[in-house]
Amino acid sequence: MSTPRRLLARLRNLMAHRDDVAGPQDLNALAELIAGELVSEVCSVYVMRGGDILELSATIGLRAGSVGRVRLRVGEGLVGLAAATAETLNLPDAQNHPAFAYRPETGEDAFASLLAVPVRRAGRILGVLVVQNRAPRRYDPDEVEVLETVAMLLAELLAAGGPERAETGLGATLPRRFGASSLAPGIVIGPVVLHTTHAAPHRLLADDPDREVLRLEQAWETMQRGIDRMISDQLPEPAAPGGSKAKPSAASSRRSEAASASREILEAYRLVAADAGWLRRVNEAIRGGLSAEAAVARVAGELRDRMRRISDPYLRERLADLEDMAARLLSSLDGAQTIAAVAPGAILLARRLGPAELLDWHARGIGGVVIEEGSASGHAAILARALGIPALGGARGVVESADPGDEAVLDGDEGQVFLRPEQELKTGYLHVIEARSARQAGWAALRQRKAVTQDGTPVRLMLNVGLAMELTQLDATGAEGIGLFRTEIAMLARGAVVDTREQAAVYARVMDAAGDRPVMFRTLDLGGDKLLPGSPPPEEENPAMGWRSLRIGLDRPALLRRQLRALLLAAAGRPLSVMFPMVATVAEFRAAKALLLAEAARVRPAPAALSIGTMLEIPALMWQLPALLKECDFISVGTNDLMQFLFAADRGAPLLVNRYDVLSPPVLDLLADLVAQADHAGVPVSVCGEVASRPLEALTLVGLGVGTLSMPASGILPIKALLADLDLPAFRHFLTSLRRSAAGAASVREPIATWARERSLQL
Ligand code: PEP
Ligand code: MG
Repeated sequence: MSTPRRLLARLRNLMAHRDDVAGPQDLNALAELIAGELVSEVCSVYVMRGGDILELSATIGLRAGSVGRVRLRVGEGLVGLAAATAETLNLPDAQNHPAFAYRPETGEDAFASLLAVPVRRAGRILGVLVVQNRAPRRYDPDEVEVLETVAMLLAELLAAGGPERAETGLGATLPRRFGASSLAPGIVIGPVVLHTTHAAPHRLLADDPDREVLRLEQAWETMQRGIDRMISDQLPEPAAPGGSKAKPSAASSRRSEAASASREILEAYRLVAADAGWLRRVNEAIRGGLSAEAAVARVAGELRDRMRRISDPYLRERLADLEDMAARLLSSLDGAQTIAAVAPGAILLARRLGPAELLDWHARGIGGVVIEEGSASGHAAILARALGIPALGGARGVVESADPGDEAVLDGDEGQVFLRPEQELKTGYLHVIEARSARQAGWAALRQRKAVTQDGTPVRLMLNVGLAMELTQLDATGAEGIGLFRTEIAMLARGAVVDTREQAAVYARVMDAAGDRPVMFRTLDLGGDKLLPGSPPPEEENPAMGWRSLRIGLDRPALLRRQLRALLLAAAGRPLSVMFPMVATVAEFRAAKALLLAEAARVRPAPAALSIGTMLEIPALMWQLPALLKECDFISVGTNDLMQFLFAADRGAPLLVNRYDVLSPPVLDLLADLVAQADHAGVPVSVCGEVASRPLEALTLVGLGVGTLSMPASGILPIKALLADLDLPAFRHFLTSLRRSAAGAASVREPIATWARERSLQL
């Protein structure tokens, strides 16, 4: 019998005679068993006490007197380090590790090598399991796996004997605020519901591996059928009887677009499910003596560890998909429902959340969601925006600190969540919600109207979109077109670069939905933080400034040409606008334009008009404007990247978020200069960075003469309302004198805000 099976079989014997083995004698018996099987001179069990102290609770090989006496803080010594990082340490020369903390009472100075495995359950550290040997050696992968499996079993036993929640007592009842990043706007007040990982398997060990493999296969099929059912549930509703060609209502077309996009995402998710290759690992774990459910939990835990070490946000997001799937597989194994009923409008708190789970929770009526490890590009976040569910990412520790039923305020606009809010804060938010619904009712009338300032100057408000589901927002907001179609988003949601024909179908759908309204398609902006699976990022110190976007497109032109052909095919004789991202030199723009013109010469029918523009995201273009303006048809300013390159401030760094202000003399001077030169050359300028949807920024951009603002759908109606009350000549006058007097200021936000407030503009 192999070591893991033999060890697990002996563990089963040990457990068969006890209700739990978390008592001191039993932990010693466990340590003895492990030391014997792994041929280690030492095996010790450290158990977490009081949330941050690891106490030596059992040992074979260290001095017996140290049990109960040796205590380490989380982060202290190698054992504390394993707990703090939640990672296994495998060290042949432990004593020379910088974190080694010598405790004379243990006598451990005699042992050179150490293997320390954190004992974790549902994301919490319950202890650390350690083996040590005199001889310096690195433990082999099988030994590591055995100890990790035992740690998983031990976690269940410790959890059964100890309190489930880390935070107990007064701390759990006090109001708390958590900063977060906004994934989808909106404010909700409601009771908390916790998205816990699936309950621990009841049965950890099994005698009959063949039977467990069969159970796994059956559960796998059930899960696959469930995903297929979800996908077919997301199919657009059938057309009206009688084949009527009547225009669908905005609501029904929104439903069907949202449905088809959920479908896109679920299809991608199914690929993850099929491709992950982890079923093989689950089978191996079953052959090693685990029950099917314990094997799934074990392999999911392993994947979680591996993915946690990956910094790429896109790949980390796939972790949520995998966990979603493991939870589904576990529930089909024990035949349980994953999610119970919730109070309507409840706020879901999750560490991670997959897209299928979000759809489940949405169907049960949640009002908002906080995903601790969620990012704006994650599947769940994309769906939350499409479904109109306010959502936050980050807010580390919120899951740990909440009890089900606690009241919470989720502020998706400002990026914060309050647990157990004070009455005063809650009342304040209730007023905001009321005022907002009153305002929204007022905005509805603006839907059909174009944006004009009070004095009659038209401003074009357009949409930033990336998924077909967002197209319904054109009608819902009355936007004048799509100012930025991020072509990479659909591919990221799919998890693959799709072929020319499929791309053309997507772009044609976008143009069909837009009708006569213009669409500015931006070519693939991959790289940096937007990576496709299977294309490992090059080793780069600064990926945002690395080999990304148009740089990839020009160095590997086949991909870019395929995309350009797809766009031309989709236009099928209609007018087409294409722009290139991350252009740094006129030479790059010329090279990209030449590729587009070469494709255009081949594709028939040719587009009725071909408009070729550039994003302005890299400051160097500002000093090439005379040449650039002669060759491009339009410029779209990407302030998200422009700001990061102008101020050398990573757009994703939380500590820098409010450090540099777009409403500051250098940025205003840059934009004023751009507008003046572009106007002179007759080239239209738009701004499509996030700032275009913020009231004070939008006001200022219009004041500087920017004629088109492109933004997420949520910004269109509020900005229309703001502009409707704006006396533009008066504001321009004010802005000119402000810029003259503000040289050297870090920000001119305050005076602009005061001007707007004094005129009761809707900010
Ligand atoms: C920008 O940089 O402002 C922009 C619109 O592009 P993205 O946010 O997709 O990088
Ligand atoms: Mg950009």
